[in-house]
Amino acid sequence: MEASQRLLNVEQSIRDACARRGRDPRDVQVMLVTKTVPPERILPFVRHGHALFGENRVQEAAIKWGDSLLRGCRPDFIGHLQTNKVKACLDTCGRIHSVDRLRLAAALDRELKARGEHREVFLQVNSSGEPSKFGLPPAEVPRFAEEMKVFSSLKVTGLMTLALFSADERLVRPCFRRMRQIFTEVQEAHLFGSEFRHLSMGMSGDYEIAVEEGATIVRVGTAVFGRRHTPDSYYWPGEG
Ligand SMILES: *Cc1c(COP(=O)(O)O)cnc(C)c1O
Repeated sequence: MEASQRLLNVEQSIRDACARRGRDPRDVQVMLVTKTVPPERILPFVRHGHALFGENRVQEAAIKWGDSLLRGCRPDFIGHLQTNKVKACLDTCGRIHSVDRLRLAAALDRELKARGEHREVFLQVNSSGEPSKFGLPPAEVPRFAEEMKVFSSLKVTGLMTLALFSADERLVRPCFRRMRQIFTEVQEAHLFGSEFRHLSMGMSGDYEIAVEEGATIVRVGTAVFGRRHTPDSYYWPGEG
């Protein structure tokens, strides 16, 4: 099956999940996660008007999205960001979904101020509690969100998470539910205004559950592009 057909299938599953919960499918965007996918396989989606892409590694993103084929497009950054890669990440990527520590927020803010720019960012939350996953412990999110206000060049517009990797829905769904609760908590604290509106959660294996639980962005790679040859341990610590 072609990747474009697989994307249509994913979009249909999202509409079905929305229908089950009375949600408007227009409130859910599909991010195509293009790690390991070469520019020539990304290009048809760009040409077709797809605008939301995600990359996990700064160096890979810089090489691929710097390619003349994809000129003018910017992926969102969804991987763990080291402070020494902040400049390269800001050069290559758009929104950053993985702000999870003050030192990183400070480094981003400093660099953006030097450039006279603002940037949308999401806070990454460790909703599964696994020590191998990056992200803020859920209980720390409200206080962290409060502390983000001093970084005036960062616009916090959402939360992002990786749920527990499991085929057991009973273990996965609570991660998404918890995210929805935290999301609502932050919204109701009125720290960021109406611009705070994104819940980035759900991947190829669990996006339908994520949509049922309120995701506004699902991040899908293998369900569209097929299996990756690079092991996930290259992108995530502690995964095989
Ligand atoms: C790779 C990746 C995804 C997509 O994973 P698939 O299982 O291939 O859909 C989503 N989010 C992050 C942060 C990723 O690194």
